[in-house]
Amino acid sequence: MTRWIEASISILKCNQSDHTTPHITFCGDTDMVTAGLASLSSVITDEIVVAELKPAELTDETGKDFETRINELLGRDDLRFIRLSCVEAGPAPAGRSFQDFRNAYTAPRLIFACPRCDGGEAVSTKTEAPSDFQRAGGKLTVLTAVELRD
Ligand SMILES: [Zn+2]
Repeated sequence: MTRWIEASISILKCNQSDHTTPHITFCGDTDMVTAGLASLSSVITDEIVVAELKPAELTDETGKDFETRINELLGRDDLRFIRLSCVEAGPAPAGRSFQDFRNAYTAPRLIFACPRCDGGEAVSTKTEAPSDFQRAGGKLTVLTAVELRD
């Protein structure tokens, strides 16, 4: 039986240029479901590659070994591991009550290192379902026995 996992695609826009990079987020109910899966994004085309991490790669936060292995496996050099650069908390709520806090709360922003240039930071400008991404011409390449669902 093929396991499946829900996923969504974020379109990351660079703050230094007009280029965008698609990035996949897995939405498993438990860590067990997503454990071991990682993705690479192409820097020349709208494509995401999903594969299973080797045990040794699980502890490598830079994703470099995984990136090198998958590029070699596919005979490519355009796939990049998207690194989270920092998490920017929303503005601190000024109100006193819990109600004020709730009204003022904004979710933290995830800031990624742009894989297409040196030093650029990329944030999600749009989130879409994998099926919409593919319908718009995006390509999802899955190298392991997992089915990605909306
Ligand atoms: Zn960039």
